[in-house]
Amino acid sequence: MAEFDVDLFVIGGGSGGVRAARIAANYGAKVMVAEEYRMGGTCVIRGCVPKKLFVIGSHVHQEIEDAAGFGWSIGQVSFDWATLVANKDKEIARLEGAYTSNVEKSGAKIVKTRAVLEDAHTIRLATGQKVTAKYILIATGGAPNHGPAVPGIEHVISSNEAFHLKELPKRIVIQGGGYIALEFAGIFAGFGSDVSVIYRGDNILRGFDEDVRKHVRAEMEKRGITIITGCTVTKVDKHGRDFTAHLSGGSSIAADQVMFAIGRHPNVKGLGLEAAGVAINPANGGIQVDGWSKTSVDNIYAVGDVTHRTNLTPVAIREGHAFADTVFGKRPVQVDHATIPTAVFSQPEVGTVGLTEQEARAQFAHVDIYKTDFRPIKATMSGRDTRVLMKLVVDGASDRVLGCHVVGDAAAEITQAVAIAVKMKATKADFDATIALHPTASEELVTMRTPTARHVRQAAE
Ligand code: FAD
Ligand code: NDP
Repeated sequence: MAEFDVDLFVIGGGSGGVRAARIAANYGAKVMVAEEYRMGGTCVIRGCVPKKLFVIGSHVHQEIEDAAGFGWSIGQVSFDWATLVANKDKEIARLEGAYTSNVEKSGAKIVKTRAVLEDAHTIRLATGQKVTAKYILIATGGAPNHGPAVPGIEHVISSNEAFHLKELPKRIVIQGGGYIALEFAGIFAGFGSDVSVIYRGDNILRGFDEDVRKHVRAEMEKRGITIITGCTVTKVDKHGRDFTAHLSGGSSIAADQVMFAIGRHPNVKGLGLEAAGVAINPANGGIQVDGWSKTSVDNIYAVGDVTHRTNLTPVAIREGHAFADTVFGKRPVQVDHATIPTAVFSQPEVGTVGLTEQEARAQFAHVDIYKTDFRPIKATMSGRDTRVLMKLVVDGASDRVLGCHVVGDAAAEITQAVAIAVKMKATKADFDATIALHPTASEELVTMRTPTARHVRQAAE
């Protein structure tokens, strides 16, 4: 009789867990996956995918406005939130089915229930059943933070609820200045809501390049989004169907919805980590792992948001794949977490890869900046008051391109392609040697010849 019921038990059927389960099963392992909610996880069910569908839908109004300058006269238009939500739900259900069948086709078995650790080799299902496993992968993802328990917090929604609102809010207050707050600010504004973003610091998108932060804020404000910085929501009152968000400065805003998008925390609570001896990383509250995604227990690994490293879908997928290759494929693979491209699907969109100007100047003695902001060709006829930002950060000593930052239409698409060059350590001379593709916005990335700033740190005396 086999020593264990399965070779691998995966807790969580999201991006990381599904990839690991499929690849391990392809290597011949006997695999079981537990999912307590819906197969596909955050990205598919209430993250990247429905968000991108909403972004695409909300951008249509801008296309309609811009059309007039090109000769179109579009009559009365209307938008139906219920249709959008229903069609999105249909697509998400289709994807959930595809995720389920792909896992099953690989030979892995899905159990639709919550699973927790009983000890280092035993998993307890909510059904009471116990399963023993040679290896365990924790891929339980994360969940929205609710923040400090301000009075009225029970009236506040997170991104989870934002995907299922019965009606489009006419007015919405969104607290936070990161990915989710700005993406949903663009979504709701695009569909016609009056949006106020409340951010505690001095400018949104902390951690992004300073020029990007300024540019995005200015562009969002031009599109009618109110951004209030240096304050927080201290209390939320409900009167009938309306809410009032009280701000730390003493003012207040009336709204139909109040949403917090103030970060996410790893799903570690009640998982039985202590019973199994799995340590938490005190620095970030995620499961502590080494470069192989191995936890403090030899046969237990963790990937994705539950480790709170870089909380992005392609990273969770890569970590899950690397784990399966290493443990079941006899092919040790470590994930390289350096130079990960990322995009904020705000309106306008942000794409970024590599170092910001500030990071580069802290690490390199000679940093050259190539920066341009310009009116995109479409705006010349649409009349829209908008500008695109493109910026390259270059190591003046080696000529290597350290970072690329784009704000404007298709910034994410542009950045995915540029990320290959940056990852390959391309030099500015390589960019310059590439002939421009005209007329595009991104041709600026290969035609900027003169640095707009040069930072040379003098050697210490
Ligand atoms: P998840 O996908 O969260 O999967 C974890 C799964 O485990 C869940 O299905 C959960 O139900 C299940 N689970 C938890 N505990 C248990 C248990 N005890 N037993 C059984 N099952 C359990 N990333 C991008 O790269 N691009 C984007 O555009 C993007 N947009 C996003 C938009 C939003 C609104 C949000 C919230 C996130 C977004 N992300 C985006 C981040 C991305 O969704 C996550 O990084 C990714 O889903 C992490 O994958 P994961 O496998 O670690 O966890
Ligand atoms: P982010 O970390 O991006 O932003 C959180 C924001 O909330 C920051 O502006 C932060 O301020 C603020 N904040 C944190 N705590 C508080 C508090 N107690 N009171 C008031 N404000 C607070 O988190 P999100 O929730 O937006 O998204 C979570 C993660 O999901 C992202 O970091 C990303 O990894 C992933 N994601 C990726 C997307 C993509 O790839 N396009 C899209 C959506 C999510 P401060 O900066 O001052 O700390």
